[in-house]
This record gives sequence, C-alpha cells and structure tokens, in this order.
Amino acid sequence: MRVPLRVMHEDAQKKILVVEDNPDNRKILVYRLRRMGGFLIEEACNGREALDVIETSPPDLIIMDINMPLIDGLEVTKRVRAMEGPVSTTPILLLTAQVSDDYARKGFAAGCTDYLPKPIVDPKVLQAKVVACLAMRGTTSTREQLQTGPGA
Ligand SMILES: [Mg+2]
Repeated sequence: MRVPLRVMHEDAQKKILVVEDNPDNRKILVYRLRRMGGFLIEEACNGREALDVIETSPPDLIIMDINMPLIDGLEVTKRVRAMEGPVSTTPILLLTAQVSDDYARKGFAAGCTDYLPKPIVDPKVLQAKVVACLAMRGTTSTREQLQTGPGA
C-alpha cells in the first residue's frame, strides 16, 4: 500500500514555538530555524502568549527567552512542568543574554531541558541543541530526576 508522501511529510514535521520579546532576535532565530528546514514554527512575543499557544496546540519544542514582559521564561517553564499530561515533558531550550552560572542554575531549577547564551553566534550549536532537545520529547524532565534522585 502506498502512503501519500504529503501526509508522511506532515507527520514528520515538528512544531517549534519561539518565544522572544525582542522582534529582531525573534526574526533572526526564526530565520535560522527555517533554514534548517522541516520545522513548523510558531511565534510568541511574551510568556502570556506562549502559554496560550502551549495550551491550545502543544509544540514539540519550546525555544524561549528568559527576560520578557508579563510572564518571564522561568515562570513559563515552571508552569509547563506543572501542567497535566504529556505537555509537561515538552523540551524547553532557554535563551539568556546573562551568561552566568546563576542564570543557568535558575533555568535548570525551573525545569528547562537546556539553555543557550544570546546572541547565538554559531548556527551549528543551535541546530545541535534543537535536535538533542527534540529527541528528549516525552522523557522525564531533569527537574523530576533531580527531585526523585537516582534509583527512586
Ligand atoms: Mg527579552
């Protein structure tokens, strides 16, 4: 039996939600993701918009700025991890211009999967992290592992 190619393509397409309040940064990020090809990309410009999208049509990956108006990236991360069902395990890649251990620690404590410093200078690093994060979809979050500990 033949499977229509178009349907297969749609099934294979992963949805990435880009959340960034700075329009220039958002544009660059979306442009880079589009160049990688094969992704459906949705955009949100703050945490409130992001939560609306996540609740109505859950993405396969969230790439999100930390510093944003209304609801910041750390708070969105915490709320996603507290959601009911598989959406709570959505991989979250946090972006921050504040490259410090403290920011990384806060991000991981909130439940992010990984983080990327801004500006993103190497598109290959972005691509590697996107692929790695997408592969983690549905697995136990880092936060749960930290909370339950090994062998729990
Ligand atoms: Mg920002």
